[in-house]
Amino acid sequence: MQHKVVIVGSGPAGYTAAIYLGRAGLDPVMVTGALTPGGQLVNTTEVENFPGFPKGIMGPELMDNMRAQAKRFGTEFIADDVVAIEAVEPATDGQDSARPSYRLNLSDGDVLQTEAVIIATGSNFRKLGVPGEQELSGHGVSYCATCDGFFFRDKPIVVVGGGDSAFEEALFLTRFGSSVTLIHRRDEFRASQIMVDRAKQNPKLRLLTNTVVTEVHGTETAPATAPAAPALNLGGLSLTPKPQVNVSSVSLKNTVTGEESELETAAVFVAIGHTPATDFAADVVTRDSDGYITVDGASTRTTAAGIFAAGDCVDRVYRQAISAAGMGCRAALDAQAYLND
Ligand SMILES: Cc1cc2nc3c(=O)[nH]c(=O)nc-3n(C[C@H](O)[C@H](O)[C@H](O)COP(=O)(O)OP(=O)(O)OC[C@H]3O[C@@H](n4cnc5c(N)ncnc54)[C@H](O)[C@@H]3O)c2cc1C
Repeated sequence: MQHKVVIVGSGPAGYTAAIYLGRAGLDPVMVTGALTPGGQLVNTTEVENFPGFPKGIMGPELMDNMRAQAKRFGTEFIADDVVAIEAVEPATDGQDSARPSYRLNLSDGDVLQTEAVIIATGSNFRKLGVPGEQELSGHGVSYCATCDGFFFRDKPIVVVGGGDSAFEEALFLTRFGSSVTLIHRRDEFRASQIMVDRAKQNPKLRLLTNTVVTEVHGTETAPATAPAAPALNLGGLSLTPKPQVNVSSVSLKNTVTGEESELETAAVFVAIGHTPATDFAADVVTRDSDGYITVDGASTRTTAAGIFAAGDCVDRVYRQAISAAGMGCRAALDAQAYLND
């Protein structure tokens, strides 16, 4: 069976594309990803900057809503990964259009054939890989200053990394934190000199070089609602809000002297880079040296006719749910125009 359009990835970009394509009557099929359907926001707590939710919304709930909206307009979901895309050459009998179609190989061995593809597979942030990081993710450990900086007003903050994005995040976070310590494992930075100079001039920002974080620690804090919200009594079953564990400090090691120390902090922002999830498409579309799919100007058209790309697998700059959703909308409209041409 030949599909009209298959969307690869189920983050904000993929679901938005599905909503538009479903409403346009194009019966989209979505390969959601086997391990993390819903994308990056499924692993976070509160999202306060997605328009339409004045009180904020939990990341998993936002993604469930997007999925329900895509389902309402007829999206078919396949819980699997695409492992490769192959171009199928167009028929040359002179009658058919000269368009290629695409074969998508899934990890369970199934194959989907389609006229158009939207790639919306996001990117994976690199992790420190130290004890405490995983457990405290969303409770002080973050990978996105724009998303989470606001939560650490007047508190000490640590940023890990030495490139331009680490410096950008650190400078941005000085607006919120009582202090920001940028920790880098070498004594030289990859960041541009202008960023380093700007950081050195900022009185709230301290640069700690030749240092690595070896562990992230947390302590229990009373639930925020404790005084206002008494224990719930559900027919004799009493539910008391659980205390939360939030980041309280990091263990550090000097990479030259080996000296170990501890630094109090309320947040650890990890800014050591992202890897776009695009390897499976390497044979059909052009990517830049870091693996981001290249598109034609402000459109979502890739170098392969009929393949469109949207969200964090293209965008190395904005990396927000709303910008990914906006690009998903553009990919759907580009695909629609292509299919109707
Ligand atoms: C901890 C954290 C907190 C954040 N908080 C906010 C916030 O508060 N506000 C905000 O605007 N942004 C926030 N962001 C950023 C936001 O989550 C991303 O910008 C956004 O999710 C990108 O959307 P996307 O659709 O491009 O990709 P993603 O959300 O990354 O989704 C990609 C999808 O593709 C799937 N996939 C990957 N490879 C394959 C494959 N081969 N086959 C099939 N499927 C595949 C994955 O399983 C996933 O479902 C946060 C990010 C993180 C990590």
